[in-house]
Amino acid sequence: MDKIKMTTPLVEMDGDEMTRILWKMIKDELLIPYIDLKTEYYDLGLEYRNETNDQVTVDSANATLKYGVAVKCATITPNAARMTEYNLKEMWKSPNGTIRAMLDGTVFRTPIIVKGIEPCVRNWEKPITLARHAYGDVYKNVEIKVPGAGKAELVFTAEDGSETREVIHEFKGAGVIQGMHNTDKSISSFARACFSYALDLKQDIWFATKDTISKKYDHTFKDIFQEIYDAEYKDKFEEAGIEYFYTLIDDAVARVMKSKGGFIWACKNYDGDVMSDMVSSAFGSLAMMTSVLVSPSGVYEYEAAHGTVQRHYYKHLKGEETSTNSVATIFAWTGALRKRGELDSNKALMDFADALEKATLSTIESGKMTKDLALITSLSDVTVLNSQDFIKAIREELEKLLA
Ligand code: NAP
Ligand code: MG
Repeated sequence: MDKIKMTTPLVEMDGDEMTRILWKMIKDELLIPYIDLKTEYYDLGLEYRNETNDQVTVDSANATLKYGVAVKCATITPNAARMTEYNLKEMWKSPNGTIRAMLDGTVFRTPIIVKGIEPCVRNWEKPITLARHAYGDVYKNVEIKVPGAGKAELVFTAEDGSETREVIHEFKGAGVIQGMHNTDKSISSFARACFSYALDLKQDIWFATKDTISKKYDHTFKDIFQEIYDAEYKDKFEEAGIEYFYTLIDDAVARVMKSKGGFIWACKNYDGDVMSDMVSSAFGSLAMMTSVLVSPSGVYEYEAAHGTVQRHYYKHLKGEETSTNSVATIFAWTGALRKRGELDSNKALMDFADALEKATLSTIESGKMTKDLALITSLSDVTVLNSQDFIKAIREELEKLLA
């Protein structure tokens, strides 16, 4: 069989620990035998980030802006323990944070639905994609612990020196105060990324805040979304037969629980933090969750939502067998290959991505899976495979599909 040709390279960002091991297995078993794989390779493994003073992360983000599509392996975000473990020159920042800032992007997380791994919420038939605004609010707050009686005020000093003031509270005793902000620019980028991605998936998008209580702060989010929708997306949405739907956050939560799924839920930063953990746990497993970073200009970076699976890596280093789930990492590759195919009008590449996803799901549905899934599956006849054998089992299914 001739290998599938690619015209434009994918930006490939390699990573750390167990996911780096899976990365190579996936390429060797499931990609290189079938595709004339064209990638521009960046090693975001911690050792090389340290060697290049993290320049490699910046370079990989610039390459993503240039080519439009990237696929990323999970990477270590250094902490004190990693400083010693890897003898680091500096506590390098999270690569995901650096890339997200450079792409001005929003992260969309989607569960992978497969028969045998049922969501806790029985009426959820289709995946719910969660979009979290990744800037500001309580994550960039300033706080004061008020020691006793006194007046707290909110003051804005304009460049010309003029002041706007609001009394927050006249304290009679001790208490707490918090100041938060966001910017029209960041909210607008978030809105555009959400609307573009909804068009891409041809799914409705829901957005919710508490604008009845927060009449200026949250209302600004609501207004910016509506203005951008009306001016830039309304016609395209109507053409695609999809809907933008705004409601209050508490109403949204109630509707989400009763829904069948199959839409995108856009959340402010804090709501997204909390709700993404709820939605992903309810769907089953972090190892079955994909993630894509979308910039407002339509640049895409695909990855798994989980980390480097450190505990399994240490077992692997000791020569012990691991049963690490590679599904989310495989879907990061298929997502990126399909998007590359779409942009290059390369149907063979898109069809291959579909086939590989199908092969992965039917492997699990046939009862062959990794340990994490075996623990939660509703299937009765289950074979638990190790990391390598699971990927080999997917290859057998893939061969059948491609034959
Ligand atoms: P993690 O790698 O997601 O793993 C946490 C636990 O979840 C694992 O120990 C494992 O449980 C289970 N798990 C996660 N993915 C799995 C998979 N594919 N197959 C089977 N089980 C899986 O999170 P972490 O241990 O907190 O973080 C490890 C490193 O990853 C850290 O250095 C962190 O900075 C980094 N990280 C990177 C990203 C990213 O690049 N996007 C995201 C998050 C974390 P059991 O051990 O019980 O089997
Ligand atoms: Mg969280």
